[in-house]
Amino acid sequence: MDYEVAGTLIDEGRLARRVAELGKAISVDYNGRELIVIGILRGAVIFMADLVRAIDDNVDVSMDFISVSSYGDSTKSSGVVRINKDLDNSIKDKDVLIVEDIVDTGLTLSYLRRVLMEREPKSLAICSLLDKKERRIADISVDYVGFDIPDLFVVGYGLDYAERWRNLRSVHSVEPTVEA
Ligand code: 5GP
Repeated sequence: MDYEVAGTLIDEGRLARRVAELGKAISVDYNGRELIVIGILRGAVIFMADLVRAIDDNVDVSMDFISVSSYGDSTKSSGVVRINKDLDNSIKDKDVLIVEDIVDTGLTLSYLRRVLMEREPKSLAICSLLDKKERRIADISVDYVGFDIPDLFVVGYGLDYAERWRNLRSVHSVEPTVEA
């Protein structure tokens, strides 16, 4: 089945306002500290680029990236996660913030949190742009959430369907293409 972009779920203005609020909250919580912001490739890249610029310079921010893929098909998470690209730097004794595009079942993040906790960071918090709470399987607490959304498959602002539509400025739902 093929899909096409459907309605706008969260437009550019709402995204920008919420990212600014998240940046403020993070600036307050990490005031005067160093913070390693870890983006989960590739979906979190656009959100993270905006988020780090919304964090005030009272926080000493550095960035690192990790790439994971879950076994199984592209629209469902299996909970078995493979690290394709690891972090470049150590997080031992550091304050760490994982930035994710969307938490669905929570299986990816709960696996990743376990793996990163073994590296003994000083603290580990999670920020996700979107949260589909009703789909949650793993017990994972997300410290900073942009928007709670219903159980829809969404694209745009970094999120893809088969690598398409990451560049859309708003978050959209998708719908099956009607055959002519
Ligand atoms: P979880 O392990 O929480 O079920 O899955 C999280 C990952 O599934 C996200 O990082 C994302 O890659 C993918 N995912 C879950 N829901 C959506 C969605 O609605 N749209 C897109 N593009 N990816 C999603």
